[in-house]
Formats: sequence, structure tokens, C-alpha cells
Amino acid sequence: MKKNNTADFIIIGGGIIGCSLAYNLANQGAKNIVVLEKGELCSGGTAKSCAITRSHYSIEANVNHAVESVKIFENFDEIVGGDPRFICTGQLVLGPEKHRPVMERVFSTQNKYGSETQTLTPAEAAKLHPLIQFEDVDVIGFESRSGYCDPYLTTTAYAQRAKDLGVIFYTGTPVTGIRRNGKNKTIETNQGDFESPSLILAAGPWTHNLGKMIGVKFPYEISKHKVLTLKIDIPYEKDWPIVKDLLTPEKIYFRPDSGGVVLVGTGDHGDPVNDIEKLTDDVEMEHIERMGKRMAHRMPAFADAKLVRSWTGPYDIPPDWNPVIGPVPELEGVHVAVGFSGHGFKLAPTIGESLAQQILGTNPRVPIDMYDMTRFETGKTLNGAYGIGTFA
Ligand SMILES: Cc1cc2nc3c(=O)[nH]c(=O)nc-3n(C[C@H](O)[C@H](O)[C@H](O)COP(=O)(O)OP(=O)(O)OC[C@H]3O[C@@H](n4cnc5c(N)ncnc54)[C@H](O)[C@@H]3O)c2cc1C
Repeated sequence: MKKNNTADFIIIGGGIIGCSLAYNLANQGAKNIVVLEKGELCSGGTAKSCAITRSHYSIEANVNHAVESVKIFENFDEIVGGDPRFICTGQLVLGPEKHRPVMERVFSTQNKYGSETQTLTPAEAAKLHPLIQFEDVDVIGFESRSGYCDPYLTTTAYAQRAKDLGVIFYTGTPVTGIRRNGKNKTIETNQGDFESPSLILAAGPWTHNLGKMIGVKFPYEISKHKVLTLKIDIPYEKDWPIVKDLLTPEKIYFRPDSGGVVLVGTGDHGDPVNDIEKLTDDVEMEHIERMGKRMAHRMPAFADAKLVRSWTGPYDIPPDWNPVIGPVPELEGVHVAVGFSGHGFKLAPTIGESLAQQILGTNPRVPIDMYDMTRFETGKTLNGAYGIGTFA
């Protein structure tokens, strides 16, 4: 028999953003919180994530969130509880001369927030990563506190801590309708209706479906991103730094992955996706060959690399490649956190904390007002100095 449930806060979406928010709301004293997830926890974009936690961004707010979030990843067990498997490798950022002014500005912003970034000579960088050739590289930055996590373990750690604090999670529970009922919102699901004055939409690329239920078109598009893992005869060491190669047209990045392999992704737009339900894990041979060439150029030892695995995942991308977070205009008691454009994992600890503070009416420790969705009407968009792409 279907029941009628009430809650003080309902979060739709059990990815890293929904779970971080649930934990942070509860940790800040909120009660009676429900999370509704259509599949399992961490079954959306977060499950496909490379979970890199670097802080090189040309938008200062992103640097602030990335660095403050890294501080949480570094001490996760103490601050939140659990093990996100954070591996601190640092990140090398390789750039051409034309990017020098922006890169140097970002390095100093990173240092202002505590990310410990410096420029290196090729000889110094080679000591950190023995396989890279730097001949065509003009600028090398090294941010020492960056690294990567396990996205599933991080998400479920947040969920577990939220459960410990009383949050109730309903998995296998798709939201199929939202009705406004005075100040309350009635959320329709296969477990019956849920009712709450406060609703938070954190459904990643699926947030458009929820928008249709409340008559709002959220400003983002969806694209397909491809990830490969490659191996050579020697193991790719798990503490070699992450590399961001701004000299490639696709702005590729790569990092160690378990099993002595290297994982490669791109920082470009990706392929447009019209229907997210039709997104598959297929990666075409042309992409694999092109990435193979880019990797062999940067690391000659990869000339005969073998493909181990490939997959794809969805990015939700607003016009300025920055997230949309905060109240939904003209809908009292509805908040949204969407549009993370391929950088939502690393920002999730402080986005969850700050959004919880905003919802509960306190001043966010790390400001989020610049991510408000009204920026597309007021002209205060957050345009990154590198143009489109995940380096916003
Ligand atoms: C290939 C790839 C690589 C990436 N690499 C990085 C990286 O290295 N570093 C980084 O910081 N970020 C990275 N990202 C981005 C980052 O992973 C995402 O921004 C982040 O995981 C988004 O989390 P989310 O909770 O907003 O969305 P999701 O993880 O997609 O969660 C949304 C959840 O909502 C649920 N849902 C949807 N509709 C409904 C409904 N109607 N009812 C109930 N539940 C619903 C979904 O099932 C899903 O579980 C990457 C993303 C991809 C795809």
C-alpha cells in the first residue's frame, strides 16, 4: 500500500551533490530529510567520474571551492567520516606561451587560497613524472595538493554519514511528478507521494525532467564525454601527478588508475546528447586512435599502448560552463544544484556545505551567490579565460 510521507527537506538525486547536501543539511542541524533516487546511490554522472580534485580555474570562485574542498578530502575521515580514497599526486599543468598570463594569474589565485602552486622547469617536472617529454611546453605549473578519489566510495561515505544523522534515503524511487500545494510541494513517486515545504533538485543531467514538472527550463545542455584507460609494459605509478595538457586541441588530462594503467579524458565540449536515456558507453575507434596519438606525443613510451577499458558519461553544461546553484526564481522553497560541467565532483564538499547554509538561512562559509541562476538575465555570467571547457 502506498503511503503519504512528509519531510522538512526533500532532495531529488543521490549523486555526489545530493549526498553531500544531505549530509551537510543534517550536520548543520536540519531534521526530517529525505533523499529520493531513481536508481542506486551513485548511479548517474558521478559513477562515470574521473574524480580529479585539482584547483586550476580561471574563475576565482571555483578556485576557492576547489581548494576548500580539497582540504575536506585531505581530512575526510576526521571532518565527515569514511574513506574517499583520496590519493594526493599533485597536478602538472602544461601550457603554451599564449596561455602564460592566464596561467600565472591562476597560480597566484591558487596560492592565495592555499593550493601551493609553483612553476617548474622541465628538469624539475621530469623528476615528478619520468615519462613526459616537455620539448614543446612553454609553461609548467605544479599544484601539489591536487589528487583524485574514488567517486563511489566518496558518495556512499556522505550517504552513510547522512544516514547516521537520520537522513532517510529511498533508492529505486523515481520522481514522476511535482505538484505545488500552497507552500508545500507534493512529490509523486512509486513509493507514494512525499510532501515538503523545501525541495532541492540535484538530479544532474536529468534535472531538465524535473524542470518540466515545475514549469522551469534550466539553462544547461548535455554532452557525452569519453574516458579511456591505457597500459604499457611498465606500470603507470599511482603517485605520478595528474597531467593537464593545454597544448592539445581537446585539452586532454590524464591520471593514474588502479591496476597500473593511465586514465585519459578530454576537457572539450564533448558530443551533444539530445536524449540522455539513449547515452551509451560506446567510444568510436577514431577517438581512441586520436587519444593514443596525443598520449604518445606527450609520453613517447605510450607509442604502443594498449586500450584496457573505455566508457562515457554525461556533462550538464550551462552557457558559461559554471554551475547553477541556489533558489529557483519565483518558486518559494525550491533550490537547484545543476550544471557542474565536468567539475562537480571536486566542488561537492563545499557546494553541499554552502547550499545547506543558504537553505537554512545562514551565511555560506564559501560563497555561492555568484552561481545563482539569475546571472543569465543580469549579465553576470562567469566566463572563463580559457574559453569553453572544464578549465572555466
Ligand atoms: C566522464 C566524466 C568524468 C568526470 N570527471 C570529473 C573529474 O575528474 N573531476 C570532477 O570534479 N568532476 C568530474 N566529472 C563531473 C562530476 O562527476 C559531476 O559533475 C558530478 O558527479 C555530478 O554529480 P550530481 O550529483 O550533480 O549528478 P549525478 O551523479 O548524475 O546524480 C544525479 C542523480 O539523480 C538521479 N535522478 C535523476 N532523475 C531522477 C528522478 N526523476 N528521480 C529520482 N532520482 C533521479 C540519478 O539517477 C542520479 O543518481 C566528470 C563527469 C563525467 C561524466
